[in-house]
Amino acid sequence: METILTISNLTKKFGYLTAVKDLSFTIQKGNVYGILGPNGSGKSTTLGIVLNVVNKTSGEFSWFEGQTTTHDALKKVGAIIENPNFYPYMTAYQNLKLVCKIKGVDYSKIDEKLGVVGLLDRKNSKFSNYSLGMKQRLAIASALLNDPEILILDEPTNGLDPQGIHQIRSLIKQIASEGTTILLASHLLDEVEKVCSHVVVLRKGEKLYSGRVDEMISSHGFFELKSVQHDTL
Ligand code: ADP
Ligand code: MG
Repeated sequence: METILTISNLTKKFGYLTAVKDLSFTIQKGNVYGILGPNGSGKSTTLGIVLNVVNKTSGEFSWFEGQTTTHDALKKVGAIIENPNFYPYMTAYQNLKLVCKIKGVDYSKIDEKLGVVGLLDRKNSKFSNYSLGMKQRLAIASALLNDPEILILDEPTNGLDPQGIHQIRSLIKQIASEGTTILLASHLLDEVEKVCSHVVVLRKGEKLYSGRVDEMISSHGFFELKSVQHDTL
């Protein structure tokens, strides 16, 4: 098995608040991982640390078994950690052209990735005319432009209507089935159950469970986990 990311004893403090506490887990190639926990449990902080946008307090993480620097490793990572940010008056195609320039990716990738997310027929529409679900799909296309080994998504269906939610979840599963490893953060058990093969459950920055989703659901402790999951929602 190929290891994509190893997190060991990671801790992040914001002043007196411990947002992530002694967290360890490993991501293997080809699986779909969920980080599941209520709001404030440390999901986004964890993603921010491994993406080098948040400084850790202590502990370690290493990409691709430490074979490259984090800076180089992140060139093989696609991530959407904030609301999609594109120029509203430009078309989807024009927006992705800019991303290609920044990432040093060939323009031929644009149509390929717009096809993957089902937006090829809307590539000449202005971003401002896109629905929220389409904006999120465009963000996914953008994150896929450099053919990443792993796609990281923070709360990918937040704010979407039921149809948009369904489309994004199907898309994530499709991308995974084509060989891209996925790591997604969600506060929705339902989302993790539907999309993920593996899960790390967080509460107040601490790991409550990590393992296969099907094993979690059939385990004795699942109802306990479920109640923890709902108590701060
Ligand atoms: P989640 O993504 O699971 O909702 P976060 O990782 O965003 O959780 O936040 C974990 C905890 O850290 C929360 O209590 C949050 O308020 C706190 N936190 C996150 N970022 C900061 C920051 N930049 N400064 C201070 N506290 C923060
Ligand atoms: Mg978050």
